Amino acid sequence: MREQIMGLITPTMSIVFLAVFIVMWWRGKMGNYVLGFAVGYLFFALGFAATHLLDTGSPYVFHVTQFFYSMAVACGVWALTQRAGQPHHLGVHLIIYALSAATLAVAVITSPDISSRLVIVNVGYGAMYLVLIMTLLGAQRREAIDRLIITMHALLAAQFMIRPVLTLLVEQTIPADVYRQSIYYSVLNLSLALISLMTAMVLVGACVYDQIKAVREQADLDGLTGLRTRRAFEQDVVEMLERAKLECVPVSLVVADIDHFKAVNDVWGHQVGDIAIKQFGEVIKGTIRDTDIAGRIGGEEFCVLAWNCNAKAGITLAERIRESFAELQIAGMPDDHRLTASFGVAARADGEGYGKLFARTDAALYRAKEGGRNRVIRDGGGKKKAVVTPIKQDADTLQEARA
Ligand code: GH3
Ligand code: MG
Ligand code: MG
Repeated sequence: MREQIMGLITPTMSIVFLAVFIVMWWRGKMGNYVLGFAVGYLFFALGFAATHLLDTGSPYVFHVTQFFYSMAVACGVWALTQRAGQPHHLGVHLIIYALSAATLAVAVITSPDISSRLVIVNVGYGAMYLVLIMTLLGAQRREAIDRLIITMHALLAAQFMIRPVLTLLVEQTIPADVYRQSIYYSVLNLSLALISLMTAMVLVGACVYDQIKAVREQADLDGLTGLRTRRAFEQDVVEMLERAKLECVPVSLVVADIDHFKAVNDVWGHQVGDIAIKQFGEVIKGTIRDTDIAGRIGGEEFCVLAWNCNAKAGITLAERIRESFAELQIAGMPDDHRLTASFGVAARADGEGYGKLFARTDAALYRAKEGGRNRVIRDGGGKKKAVVTPIKQDADTLQEARA
């Protein structure tokens, strides 16, 4: 009776975890890897129910339970590698399962004692977890939660490799028909309950962490352009400037503002204005490098912090953005009409923080506007004239263009 009750704990917990993962995946609109965890727990519950309910004297029982447990491990492997953006290597896992199942078939035929069967299947699960650990160790992303997942699975692998051997040292042989009265079975019950609980806690923790991270990342992005919001940009710039100071890396700030934008809204409408802002954002994204960061810091004002970039390179970067934008056809505007933008550029001076650097760059932008717009001006007097002829583009010209 006691064994019967104990045996219900693990499948019941697994069904609860299955429900938790399904709710997180469905209601939380999370990635399919969360569904993978759910299906893994379903197979785990089925495996344990089979272990607990089927006649252990029957030769097929170990094949059935091995199938369910292996499927549970494979689902976990798929889900975790998917989450980490790593290849799942399910072919390798299938080979381990096939080898283990074949060896098990020989053991079932040749011996009525189930000790060897237990060692074979558990070593198989341990090997699958070792392959998973190797795969996860190869992932680029390695945050605290990822390290916890790897440690947890290392413990799981060790548990599967060591537990059967240690228990059998104590118990020597286990006839199939008294399997559920064995010490091994009690230890198995306890360890499986603990394993499923601990693993579920780590996996639920990983899902919650991923969800919070996704929400934060979403909140940090401007809805129209996909660039950073002003707040997120300023936060990242402060960190980058600190790093630049420590590592003695030159950085430059570029501030850009679309010219005569009020008139664009007035003449072509707010929706076309939005399209122009979006397209300007795309030009910036397509021009900067992965190490640079960009944000939309106002209505039609943008900022780029260019990493490992002195003032000269900063001007080149701003020029490239300016030229690309000045050539760009804006959807909803006449084919022969182009918009322009003005730019201020400044390189970080020794000991300078974001406030001062921004003020200098913004002052350069102001001078670019005063100087006739559609140009890049460097703080400190170095002036880079516009390469293309500035398009005269005030509200009157736009009205004319429309007429
Ligand atoms: P300047 O060449 O001196 O920059 O002239 P400007 O007309 O561009 O002047 P300013 O930068 O002050 O104008 C910004 C305008 O951008 C005012 C506002 O109506 C418009 N704007 C701000 N945010 C948005 C937005 O999200 N969408 C659209 N369509 N317009 C916006
Ligand atoms: Mg403007
Ligand atoms: Mg502006």
